[in-house]
Amino acid sequence: MENCLFCIIVKGEVPSEKVYEDDKVLAFKDINPATPIHVLVIPKKHYENVLDVKEEDKEIIADIFQAINKIAEKLGVEKDGFRIISNCGKDAGQEVMHLHFHFLAGGKMGPKII
Ligand code: 5GP
Ligand code: ZN
Repeated sequence: MENCLFCIIVKGEVPSEKVYEDDKVLAFKDINPATPIHVLVIPKKHYENVLDVKEEDKEIIADIFQAINKIAEKLGVEKDGFRIISNCGKDAGQEVMHLHFHFLAGGKMGPKII
């Protein structure tokens, strides 16, 4: 989608620090990390957020979570753990309207997510 920052990152027209890539999924470091390891995991195809993933597209969610498995292993955090967050819409403060999952790791996190 034109004018979508993450679509532009997928095209390589804005640089990113890639952590993982396959034919459907891209993961890159968040520009403003909230934790020592903060990676954004996105589908290469544009979806606005989880509400935009319809029945016919549901496999992309499995693809993303398979990628998350590989990223956890690649970054060596599969034993210590990590947190996955996807902001959806206004109240969650979604800033980039391209589906993404925050992969947070690298230290003990608080017990709450808000
Ligand atoms: P949201 O608030 O939409 O869930 O998260 C958007 C995330 O994208 C934020 O954590 C923000 O730091 C990150 N971000 C915004 N612009 C860029 C960018 O140009 N490059 C990278 N790597 N991350 C970005
Ligand atoms: Zn997009």
